[in-house]
Amino acid sequence: MPAPGITGRIRPTKVKKQQNTQKRKRDDVDVEKLEQAVAALDPKNGSYKDFTDLPLSDPTKQGLKSCHFAVMTDIQAKAIPLALQGHDILGAAKTGSGKTLAFVIPVLENLYRLQHVGVDAGLGALIISPTRELAIQIFDVLYKLGKHGHMFAAGLVIGGKSLQAEREALTRMNILVGTPGRILQHLSQTVAFNVDDLKMLVLDEADRILDMGFQRDVDAIIDYLPKERQTLLFSATQSRKLSDLARLSLSEPEYVSVHAEADSATPKSLQQNYIVCPLQEKLDILWSFIQASKKSKILVFFSSAKQVRFVYESFRHMQPGIPLLHIHGRQKQGARLETTHKFSAAKHSCLFATDVAARGLDFPAVDFVIQVDCPEDVDTYIHRVGRTARYNRDGRGVLFLTPSEEEGMLKKLEAKKVPIELINVREKKRKSIKEQVTHMCFKDPQLKYLAQKAFVTYVKSIYLQKDKEIFKLKEYDLEEYSASLGLPGAPRIKFLKGDDSKARKQASRDAIEVSGSEDEEEDEDEKKKAKAKAGVRTKYDRMFERQNQDILADHYKKLVQHEDADGTDEPTNGKEPTEDAPMPDADDDFLSVKRRIPADDDIPEAEEALEASTRNQKVVHLDGAKNPIIIDSNRREKLLKSKKKLLKLKDKGKKLVFDEDGNAHEIYELEDEEDFRAKGLPEEQRKRFLEQAREVVAEADVEDKAAAKAKKKEKMRKRKEKERAEMEGDGMGVEIEGGEDALANFLADADASDREEWSDDGEEEEEEEERGEQKRQKKWFEEESDEETATAKRRKKVKASRDVERAQPKTLEDLEELAAGLLG
Ligand code: ADP
Ligand code: MG
Repeated sequence: MPAPGITGRIRPTKVKKQQNTQKRKRDDVDVEKLEQAVAALDPKNGSYKDFTDLPLSDPTKQGLKSCHFAVMTDIQAKAIPLALQGHDILGAAKTGSGKTLAFVIPVLENLYRLQHVGVDAGLGALIISPTRELAIQIFDVLYKLGKHGHMFAAGLVIGGKSLQAEREALTRMNILVGTPGRILQHLSQTVAFNVDDLKMLVLDEADRILDMGFQRDVDAIIDYLPKERQTLLFSATQSRKLSDLARLSLSEPEYVSVHAEADSATPKSLQQNYIVCPLQEKLDILWSFIQASKKSKILVFFSSAKQVRFVYESFRHMQPGIPLLHIHGRQKQGARLETTHKFSAAKHSCLFATDVAARGLDFPAVDFVIQVDCPEDVDTYIHRVGRTARYNRDGRGVLFLTPSEEEGMLKKLEAKKVPIELINVREKKRKSIKEQVTHMCFKDPQLKYLAQKAFVTYVKSIYLQKDKEIFKLKEYDLEEYSASLGLPGAPRIKFLKGDDSKARKQASRDAIEVSGSEDEEEDEDEKKKAKAKAGVRTKYDRMFERQNQDILADHYKKLVQHEDADGTDEPTNGKEPTEDAPMPDADDDFLSVKRRIPADDDIPEAEEALEASTRNQKVVHLDGAKNPIIIDSNRREKLLKSKKKLLKLKDKGKKLVFDEDGNAHEIYELEDEEDFRAKGLPEEQRKRFLEQAREVVAEADVEDKAAAKAKKKEKMRKRKEKERAEMEGDGMGVEIEGGEDALANFLADADASDREEWSDDGEEEEEEEERGEQKRQKKWFEEESDEETATAKRRKKVKASRDVERAQPKTLEDLEELAAGLLG
């Protein structure tokens, strides 16, 4: 098996060039012969039984042989000859009947005969699957079958890898298997991805791919593909909607339906049963069932990822004695892959799954498929149950139905030729786990949270089910169900309000409120929608939405109500006035403008204050503040107590100068006009002022220059001294250094303990030692108690002291300072 990476070449690893050319020659002959043989096929004859009866290329024959496929299944015998001849095909055959080979063989063969191979050939066949797991499985079959001599480059595009990495490989591919979303992403974003020469399009689980969920992606993909191509559709349940066929532009498709005439839509070797049990007993029965079948491989389906998670987590805690696994669409790709591998390989295991595992997956030897939550329709039922009893093996399916679902579902199953029988659960074997689950939820808030989510999503899923003949929300006992999940009461769900809210209100007075939109994704979607609806929101909108913060909001609300009342804005949306939100009093406010505020200006604060006082809000007049402060919240009330904060509300102060008598003057005071004139003409006055200023500047300049000169001199002197010291050091060399080192070592030893304590960046210290720097000496200002002071502080101090020490022998000032210190 190839690593489940993005690409895999299905050619043998090392093919010598010589062999290659020889092979090519043989291929040419091969292809011609094959072409003739295929043309001579009579697909409707039905006489082909074994793969050897068909004109297939040597590499394909080899592949089939190595996989031990000899006899064809019905669908293969019917579909392959037609597909080899290039017909479009609508293939329907039961689950596990070998549909994969029915399209993989024609893909390999038709491209082989066309010699659609190599980098330049571009993409020849595109195989689309609804899930990543199924795409991987198809790729696996393609790989195993094609690796015995086919030269195609085949790839897998399912996301979960970097787009760029896929991109590079993609352009070389001849056959691609992928999921709709990722394929579309590449078609629209990868420039070099050439599909103009595509010969074949295959949709596995076609009905799923063509349904609503994938519609947009698939339509967009098809737009990129050439119209002239062969299209193959396969599924266990096949709709023949004309609209779908038109979408795919099928030309005269051949319907190959193997079970249309059969008396059942499901494999014969599949035993199907259902049990009827109320919602609240489902978990008990499931647990009891698993306990009774520990030596089997069980696949259990639920309706949502939340259900899966809750049951998985709670059962895991209860140690069921069989390995539990879970898979759902919310998991990371890696986890999903690992789970499928584990479950495939396991002998005894129980996998809890959503419908991501319902389609196409070929887990070997599954004994039971349990459907705990009723599937949305019969097709889903068939696909789920089809994970067992594959290719002539035995298998059992058990469907759990609540009493209210029984009638509707049975009718539908019967109509689609699904033979199913009622069975009862032996009371002796039944064990109640309700108490245990309740206890776990009580102890573990996370589990309780999962239970709440599981409850909400389940109820929502019932609510959203299309088939109301089966799913009748009112018939389920939700209180009991929530209790069976270990919850103290049924979480309230918003969308139920409309139904019979009075009864519910009564029932769940003390229920925990769980937001109706539990689902993060849905939540986001809803938010987005709401946003889109709301249109463009301005800064003012946001400001006014913030309620109870300032009076502006109230004020705006009034204005808006005016608008509402006179119908200029969105009025009441046709809603009836309710108690909570009475209609604005139309008579009162009708077209009467009470105040008008210019859109861009803030409301004058004085007016605000006026309004506030009429509103019984406290207004405080502060000394030093021009405008009064409105106290409309506790926060503001508190603000009054802080002088520092109040400063901000006061007006900015002025700088004053005081004369000799202590009188305050402003810095610049205007003199009398008369005084001014008395001093002479303005021009002269200016000149005089300039001269005075020049004198002041000149004086200051002399001082500054002298200071700068002194500084420079000092610097020079220090440099020379340093140079001299260095020269002297050179001359005396080793001896002194050694002496200093000895001292340094001693000092280091003396206060090593001290140092260790503060030196947490030891490396740095070591380096310094290596540089032969002087060691630290305990200073006069360091007392023993200093050891207890904070490390950082100490390091700083010590560093500073060292600096002093290092400078010690160098300048006079330093010596003086040290001496003073010692004396001190
Ligand atoms: P489907 O897609 O119809 O559900 P698959 O193609 O997954 O079924 O095949 C179901 C199983 O049958 C696979 O494990 C496959 O290996 C096996 N199988 C298919 N065709 C043959 C065959 N001709 N002979 C033996 N086993 C086969
Ligand atoms: Mg299949």
